[in-house]
Amino acid sequence: MGTTHGHKSVPIPCPYGYGTRGYPYPWVKLPSLDLGDSHHLDTPVWKDIATGLSTFRAITKVSIANGTSTSFWADLWTGDSPLQDRFPNLFSHSTRPNINVAAALTPDFRNTLGPRLSLAAETDLRTLANELSSVTLRQDTLDTRWGRLANKKLSNKCVYTNSFRHLRIEEAAEKFWRSAAPLKCKVFCWLAWKKRLPTNERRFRHQLCNTAACLSCSHNEDVDHLLLMCPKAKEVSRFFFPDFDIRGPANLNDLWMTKCRSFEEATVTTAIAWNIWKRRNARTFNDTAEDLLLVSRRCIEDIRLWAHRCNSSPPSLSLNNWCNGFDPP
Ligand SMILES: [Zn+2]
Repeated sequence: MGTTHGHKSVPIPCPYGYGTRGYPYPWVKLPSLDLGDSHHLDTPVWKDIATGLSTFRAITKVSIANGTSTSFWADLWTGDSPLQDRFPNLFSHSTRPNINVAAALTPDFRNTLGPRLSLAAETDLRTLANELSSVTLRQDTLDTRWGRLANKKLSNKCVYTNSFRHLRIEEAAEKFWRSAAPLKCKVFCWLAWKKRLPTNERRFRHQLCNTAACLSCSHNEDVDHLLLMCPKAKEVSRFFFPDFDIRGPANLNDLWMTKCRSFEEATVTTAIAWNIWKRRNARTFNDTAEDLLLVSRRCIEDIRLWAHRCNSSPPSLSLNNWCNGFDPP
């Protein structure tokens, strides 16, 4: 990105480390341009980077220091929105819409506007001059850019949060994403909830196998059957929750919405579902019939292991206490 230094032809430094506006030959003198202006020597890579500039500005704000890497009109650096939005009449007269703050806060600023201003623009100019009269630049310090929402330094997380905040978050998904299980188990829960697990029913539908039947009971093996309704799944659930047959969930969505009200419950449910899935795979791919004792012991070992990964001790303690209830006397 470049900054302007008057109207002379000077190499334009890039504050984001991309050389002279992306042009590979630093000895070539490029004409004076403002941050965000285009030029016929711009490389395709630089043009691609520049397309993200408006998004970058929309999710960031700047603590001003020397003002050289901050767009006067487009960046949020004073007030609660960029100056181009607050003073549209004056901005429409600007001949340098990408001028930076350091270049704008000089007596020559009036020369960057058209020769004749409308009445509304004159009013804007007076209001703006009054607001900016208290701004002082510090030449020895660089501007600092922050994420707008979290008020933290810009990070990948900040960019992702801002980019996807318009999307609706599914309530059930929040529960299993916030368990103590490792990522692969959370992804497994996500696939199960979206009915994307490669069960026999799904594989048969995609003509990848000859039957949709469950290997344990010959019922159609869809996700609800596999993890909840199959006698092999029920015996595991019944081992941990003796009233499962009476109060058991009707389907997977019901399981997450009604049975997983806490972090601990979500962790236990994930461990049980994960081990039912592993038992089914052992039967399908290795022709191995694993008994209830082995599966229940694996559930408890998984939960104990995951409890060690908890960031705070109360959930870890609570999960370990739950596991202790199933230890042999
Ligand atoms: Zn079955």
